[in-house]
Amino acid sequence: MLDTHPNPDPPRPLRILISGAGIAGPALALHLVRLPPPLRCDITIVERHPDLRASGQQIDLRGQGIAAMRTLGIEPAVRAVIVDEPGLRFLDGRGRTVAYFGSNKTGKGAQTFSAEWEIMRGDLCRVLYAATRDLDGVRYLFGTTVAEFEQADGSVKVRLSDGTVGEYDLLVGCDGIGSRIRSKICADGQPDMIKPVGMAMALYTIPPKEGDPPEATWMNLPGRRYFMTRRDRPDCLRVYIGYGGHNEQLKQALKHGSVAQQKAAWADIFKHDMHQYAQVPRYIEGLSSPEADDFWTQELVQINPASWSQGRVVLVGDAGYCPSPLTGMGTSLALAGAYVLAGEIARACGPKAREQGVEPRDNIPRALKEYETVLRPFVQHVHSLPVRRYAKFGAPESRWAIALLRWLFWLIATLRIDLLFQRFASDDRGPWQLPDYPELSTPKP
Ligand SMILES: Cc1cc2nc3c(=O)[nH]c(=O)nc-3n(C[C@H](O)[C@H](O)[C@H](O)COP(=O)(O)OP(=O)(O)OC[C@H]3O[C@@H](n4cnc5c(N)ncnc54)[C@H](O)[C@@H]3O)c2cc1C
Repeated sequence: MLDTHPNPDPPRPLRILISGAGIAGPALALHLVRLPPPLRCDITIVERHPDLRASGQQIDLRGQGIAAMRTLGIEPAVRAVIVDEPGLRFLDGRGRTVAYFGSNKTGKGAQTFSAEWEIMRGDLCRVLYAATRDLDGVRYLFGTTVAEFEQADGSVKVRLSDGTVGEYDLLVGCDGIGSRIRSKICADGQPDMIKPVGMAMALYTIPPKEGDPPEATWMNLPGRRYFMTRRDRPDCLRVYIGYGGHNEQLKQALKHGSVAQQKAAWADIFKHDMHQYAQVPRYIEGLSSPEADDFWTQELVQINPASWSQGRVVLVGDAGYCPSPLTGMGTSLALAGAYVLAGEIARACGPKAREQGVEPRDNIPRALKEYETVLRPFVQHVHSLPVRRYAKFGAPESRWAIALLRWLFWLIATLRIDLLFQRFASDDRGPWQLPDYPELSTPKP
């Protein structure tokens, strides 16, 4: 039965625990801490890393992700650190340019491989951290994780790795693709919950050399392998290596290996190319350069659990719906997810709830369901992109298939078909648009 006499006291702040201070976690905190009164949030963000984990290479914002970034009010700070990548060069085995695709910085039509909103992951982490760390109601705990939690009596009881125990109205897993929160709320054995896309990738930095181009470069090697380089700053070169085949040593190293074992496994995959391709020795020897301490490697997967929440526990970003870096949409989904979740909490727990005699925290499970209903179609659209085909097409097996790919890119670049595509295609992924939440006090999408 509804209480027809609304409680006149201001509601106590919503107690929110966020696990993971990557992109999704701080973005969600920034939306929630700005909820208009009388709703207030008391937010704790725990991060496993001893400090802000601001590593990683270029990530891009596309379509709806750009609109979601704007709702955070951080556009000037993001613009200030944008990577000005002129375009992408496809190289042949001798390092000569076969095809060149410039970036589309007009703000209209579809972006190309080099997006207008290309940004180093670390810079976006720092922008979001700087925007939240000194706010009343936000507290970061580094080197800390959620050790265990249980839901009972309308709250989540949590024990942190530092031994402290607390009670929260909401626990949010923003802890990336290996999410521990997901493993606790999603039953094991769900079909396709973690779906490999058929590609592994490693990213790291090496010292620069005279003649390194400012454009991104891409070079295929037979056996489903490729190298890519990018140059966001003149004093270093970022190297991306990819492999779409099966290699037991790499598989084991990615699962359980140390960084040294992972680097050794990657070097092994290219050991027969050291004398065949001029660039390979530099890129592979660069794995042991001091600059390569930012080495990051992953088997690329899509995350797709049947549900993103259970009671008062919910997943946002890669933890709930990583689309794989091959879509270029991981960060955009994370920002859109943070926005929609905050909007649904504002809607379900805002003043209207109190007018109906409901305490804001009691409506949290309802907000989590709505968040999923609203965002699912967008996530499904991004997940339906044919990433396995991208992986096969972009990293062919045989020399003749690589020759065909190079010819195709040469043709597209020569006939400027890419410009036609840019002009007439949209940068949005599918028809889904960010909803408007008048209940949020952040800028409109
Ligand atoms: C180090 C790193 C480098 C990356 N580099 C790239 C890149 O170059 N290109 C690209 O496209 N994508 C990269 N990504 C992935 C990209 O950041 C995400 O796809 C996207 O931005 C969505 O962000 P997210 O916040 O959901 O996840 P993430 O950015 O992965 O953030 C998850 C955060 O949770 C923390 N965490 C993990 N486990 C726990 C735990 N048990 N308890 C508490 N905290 C935990 C992690 O340390 C991390 O800070 C990288 C991710 C990481 C973590």
